[in-house]
Amino acid sequence: MKQENSVIRLPNGLKHQARKRFGQNFLHDQQIIERIIKVISPSQENHIVEIGPGHGALTKPLFESGADLDCIEIDKDLAEFIDNQFVNHSRVRVYQSDILKFDLSILSNKDRNLRVVGNLPYNISTPVIFHLLKNHELIEDMTFMLQLEVIQRMASSVGQKNYGRLSLMTQYYCKVEHLFNVPSSSFIPKPKVVSAIVRLTPHQTFPVKVIDPNCLQIVIRTAFNQRRKTLKNSLKAIMPTSALDKLPIDASLRPESLSLKDYAMISDAISG
Ligand code: SAM
Repeated sequence: MKQENSVIRLPNGLKHQARKRFGQNFLHDQQIIERIIKVISPSQENHIVEIGPGHGALTKPLFESGADLDCIEIDKDLAEFIDNQFVNHSRVRVYQSDILKFDLSILSNKDRNLRVVGNLPYNISTPVIFHLLKNHELIEDMTFMLQLEVIQRMASSVGQKNYGRLSLMTQYYCKVEHLFNVPSSSFIPKPKVVSAIVRLTPHQTFPVKVIDPNCLQIVIRTAFNQRRKTLKNSLKAIMPTSALDKLPIDASLRPESLSLKDYAMISDAISG
């Protein structure tokens, strides 16, 4: 692919202007593409969902593995481009749609059936993860290219600098593996940040389980909304201090000092 500023010539000769609002940074580094495909290890038994196929850098090798492929692309021109590339292949289906509005359950009704992959648009990567987690039971695993900083937040443990809502909610649903980093020179146009590959595998047996995951989300969001406040002060709005005092938790601590188990206990005290 040839770059003219952010105008890219597609394999079919057409030109595409990279759209910032859709977080378009296209992979062009063949070695990195091969490494990503190797860690996904797709096969003909797989039902893969690719978010944002773009120019098809990952789509083509995914297709060549023999897998069934659903591609969800918001950009009308690119959705049309990908559709044309695979027009004669019924095992590739392209949806011109916003992933944040897309209902994953229309693709499968079998548990742990979908393998979700994508070089995600960085501007919406966290909302995309939260959206997918709503259908965690349908997903076998997810392999994403994300900003390194976002992956560090996902993988962070209690007491660490990046520990917060994203770490807790991702780890509630999934095992998080930071696989490798990707330099910005692997993209056109180059992003301003370092990227990395993460694998998220939804738990088959949850190490920590709450009665109501929505309540857990509210507790965590409320606690981390005011990071500098103690738990006692920040949770006042959603639970009486007397109820918090009954739990084996030091409520004078700040939110980053509590584990997922602690938050689960608070959540169950509210919703139980
Ligand atoms: N997969 C391609 C690659 O690796 O070169 C493109 C990756 S680019 C970082 C992100 C892709 O996601 C773009 O094709 C963009 O148009 C698409 N995209 C952005 N927002 C989206 C959304 N809300 N729903 C679906 N696709 C989206």
